[in-house]
Amino acid sequence: MSDQRPAVPIGSLDPNLPPPLPKAAPKVWTPREGPVPGTKPARYTATIDEILQPTPDVRLFRFTLDGYSTIMPFIAGQFIQMLTPMPDKNDPTKKKELIRSYSIASAPEETNFLEFCIKLVPGGAFTPTLWNMRVGDKIDVRGPHGKFIAHEPVDYDTVYIAAGTGIAPFWGMIQHMLSIGVTRDIVLVFGVRYEDDLLYADEFKALAQKHPNFRPIFTLSRPRHPETWWGEKGYVQNHLATHVRDPKNTKAFICGLTPMIEASVAELEKIGVTKDRIHYERYD
Ligand SMILES: Cc1cc2nc3c(=O)[nH]c(=O)nc-3n(C[C@H](O)[C@H](O)[C@H](O)COP(=O)(O)OP(=O)(O)OC[C@H]3O[C@@H](n4cnc5c(N)ncnc54)[C@H](O)[C@@H]3O)c2cc1C
Repeated sequence: MSDQRPAVPIGSLDPNLPPPLPKAAPKVWTPREGPVPGTKPARYTATIDEILQPTPDVRLFRFTLDGYSTIMPFIAGQFIQMLTPMPDKNDPTKKKELIRSYSIASAPEETNFLEFCIKLVPGGAFTPTLWNMRVGDKIDVRGPHGKFIAHEPVDYDTVYIAAGTGIAPFWGMIQHMLSIGVTRDIVLVFGVRYEDDLLYADEFKALAQKHPNFRPIFTLSRPRHPETWWGEKGYVQNHLATHVRDPKNTKAFICGLTPMIEASVAELEKIGVTKDRIHYERYD
């Protein structure tokens, strides 16, 4: 008999994950008082106004900026930093600021709140603290930052490739593309492990119903119910050759962890998307 023990459970199979948040009534957003934030990146105190839990280990956090009537101006695809005082390991009497970056998941057109789509990294320095936060809690943020953006006018096809919470910037970017009337081909290839790890799936499907130039492709690497699963199977990179129709006129955006990014870049180059048209955002 093999003495190999089963791998440590991860993601949605992990029995040690904290219980999901109970479902709450959707927040009703009302106009807020105050000036509009400036156009330059700045530091703000933000309030968590709504927390949703779409999957066992991912939460959506919706923030407003204290003292302002609206969100900071940003370009779809950019990120902000969250800054939290934590005890300094070298001198526990002192506090050090822990900084973590998060893609803005909402579109710039959503002016009520900034949305973030964040995965709990068990044992991580910051996300377990964020999991203990509730509606009404405050956190300092700085931004917007980043050049992971689609330049306009969008006179090229786009493919967005994501695994897990790498979907965050693409929810905002694709909503923005469609809201400004882009008519070129827009493909999303989004992979997760299991059916219950899918993020924004109904929302993307609803966008596709309204916009025939948008095709979302969902793929599972470990479907629990292969007989009823309605999407693709395997890793995102396995589906690029089929779904990128005109590689020479396509710009690719990839977001997530390094192994998926490297595999996708290699596959894109193989099918004829040139290096200068491949953009990526690494989370690790
Ligand atoms: C520009 C940028 C944007 C980002 N946007 C997002 C986002 O929108 N949503 C999000 O969940 N994370 C995002 N991240 C990752 C995030 O900044 C943190 O690294 C992550 O939340 C872990 O923080 P932590 O302090 O809890 O873990 P740490 O103590 O920093 O532990 C880090 C470990 O977690 C791994 N890790 C980091 N991110 C993930 C992830 N998403 N899934 C699985 N493992 C991960 C790292 O490889 C590393 O091994 C982004 C990172 C960058 C650089």
